[in-house]
Amino acid sequence: MSNNRKAKRAASGVNPFADRLAAFAAKVEGRGLDAAVVFGQSNIRCLTGVDCDNAYLLVGGGKVVFYTDFRYSPAVRRTAPWLKVDDIKKLNGKRPLRLGSMKLEKIGYESSITCARLQTLKKVFPKARFTDILGDVTDLRAVKTQGEVAAIRAAVKLNDEIWAKAMAAFRPGMTERDMARVIKHMMIDLGEGEAFETIVCVGRNAAECHHVPDDTVWNGREPVLVDMGVRLGGYCSDMTRNIVPERPSPLYKKVYALVLEANRRAIAAAKPGMTAGDLDKVARSFLERNGFGKAFGHSLGHGVGVDIHEKPAAAKGSKTKLEPGMTVTIEPGVYLEGNLGVRIEDLVVITEDGCEVLSASGK
Ligand code: ZN
Ligand code: ZN
Repeated sequence: MSNNRKAKRAASGVNPFADRLAAFAAKVEGRGLDAAVVFGQSNIRCLTGVDCDNAYLLVGGGKVVFYTDFRYSPAVRRTAPWLKVDDIKKLNGKRPLRLGSMKLEKIGYESSITCARLQTLKKVFPKARFTDILGDVTDLRAVKTQGEVAAIRAAVKLNDEIWAKAMAAFRPGMTERDMARVIKHMMIDLGEGEAFETIVCVGRNAAECHHVPDDTVWNGREPVLVDMGVRLGGYCSDMTRNIVPERPSPLYKKVYALVLEANRRAIAAAKPGMTAGDLDKVARSFLERNGFGKAFGHSLGHGVGVDIHEKPAAAKGSKTKLEPGMTVTIEPGVYLEGNLGVRIEDLVVITEDGCEVLSASGK
């Protein structure tokens, strides 16, 4: 039996990520590595379904071993009975790690780990040569499973509900911090809290695209930009909306209409086979043609999953091809320093022939 087939068998059972884990094992083998060690919590979760903050996963030679400590091993055995669980103390850096008769000389590792962990790896694999395999895992994570899309869809739906409730609760006289707190508390009550710190920008504060909510008071006549994401079932949502005042300035009105059009054009264009860079270009070239190219200083979007920022990056020049099952934000923005800022962000899932917009809040 090839290592590839063995890995597939080791990863099968009821692991909802068995295909992804088998694909990862195949990449490790394809690179000629004896094994790969995965430390990243989100990476481990997306390969095994297990969320654990003190664990590492060893994949290689047709084996998959989940190392953790006694606090977590009963829960791991219960929730993921298909996994072989072992004691994390074996990776204490004091003696070389052995796995039966497996030779462990070419080891894959994530370049995102701390120096201390890399030093430990060098001690437990004293003769090994190390190869970065971080990109292999994050590439696989970019395409979501059906279960993951369902979880993200549920998070986005909750995000829409919280936004509707928040808008009804906002009153003139509230500060940005007050408004952010309203949203945060609803996210804790109805979901698993914020996916990232909610951004609330009153008036010209929106010109700073990652402004931290402060004591600026909303007078009810200024625009408000809110960028929010809730975590639910371990997955994130991400959405930006703007409260447009009854009588916006002519410039705000113009910018809002252009950003909305850029958002709509990118949504209409998104489809499998196109590069993430070309998707960015759809919105960017539209804003450039209308004189606001320089004011759109960030990328069009990013993948969303267990982490708020995942692959693919819908950024200038990105050669990543969009594939069905990728979840990506479409968030053009225009920022005029000291004056105004508008960003409109939706989360979409790439389908067989285009994309489906998950965010349903009015814009
Ligand atoms: Zn956002
Ligand atoms: Zn975003």
